[in-house]
Amino acid sequence: MTDLHEPPKLNPAQQQVTDDLGAKRHERPTFRDDLRDELRFELEDALDPLVAAADPLPLSVTKRDLALLHSCEAHYVADRQAEFAWTVPTARGSVAHKAIELLVAWKGHPVPLDLVDEAMARLEADERGIGVFLQSLSEAERAELAGRANDFVATFLETFPPLNRRWVPVAESRVRAELCDDNLTLQGRVDLSLGKADGTTAGKVLIDLKTGRPSPIHAEDLRFYALLETLKLGVPPRLLVNYYLESGLPRRESVTEDLLWSTARRLVDAVGKLVELIGPGARSPTTTPGPGCRWCPAAATCADGRRFLARDEDELPEADDI
Ligand code: SF4
Repeated sequence: MTDLHEPPKLNPAQQQVTDDLGAKRHERPTFRDDLRDELRFELEDALDPLVAAADPLPLSVTKRDLALLHSCEAHYVADRQAEFAWTVPTARGSVAHKAIELLVAWKGHPVPLDLVDEAMARLEADERGIGVFLQSLSEAERAELAGRANDFVATFLETFPPLNRRWVPVAESRVRAELCDDNLTLQGRVDLSLGKADGTTAGKVLIDLKTGRPSPIHAEDLRFYALLETLKLGVPPRLLVNYYLESGLPRRESVTEDLLWSTARRLVDAVGKLVELIGPGARSPTTTPGPGCRWCPAAATCADGRRFLARDEDELPEADDI
């Protein structure tokens, strides 16, 4: 029988993650204690006139909005207008993330499929959104969804070290900042965080769990979360990690003050575009074809996107649907 108090034996992939994410006390950066106030002041100074010109209010910005506004404006506009419909691939991410959330506080050594079944049962109890979708599935569709989510969870358990309670693991942690007299909300949800700050010494690691190939957008997503975390706590996270399940490799980035300021500038640029693209006086969005054309709601009618997609499909990366 397995002894629950015995330290787990790590395979080389798990050991690498442990080594890559850990840091001794003296290796952790300390930030100045007025950083949060200064970031908020400079952000609101730049954002107030933009937000004042927006119609309708209030505005909301997520990491997805930022990514679309900086990649293809027309994709952003199409996304705003499209009605979201649950499918097995889109539900897979929600089920898998719920399973990881359960794993954080689960005692013992759970089997991936048990976590997935429990996650689906809990999501199905919701009378809105994904709950209604899960209730509508046939037995075969349920099995397909469970199988796909199981692949994600099993790979996570196999390649990521077991979550030690002393690491303060938190799954699906929401971060949010209200700016400009509550007329602008910045929000997100971090897949997994480990560690915590000690005074103004950074200690938290923010982790996004990814399927598909690495993309520069993934790093930008986490920088946005680092900014929100700093606006919330006053001390930034220590490390940003995109963890690619298929390769079992973390891609890390240390958080610096420069990184936070450049993320703040990127946010201001995006809000400027957003304000121009919505409301009665909205300008026409520009199109910038790219890998995002594959899952763009406007792809069927966008000439630039159709031309791009006509290229050899093998050249395009997989959609990251988790
Ligand atoms: S199909 Fe491509 S180019 Fe056209 S709007 Fe969508 S993402 Fe932009």
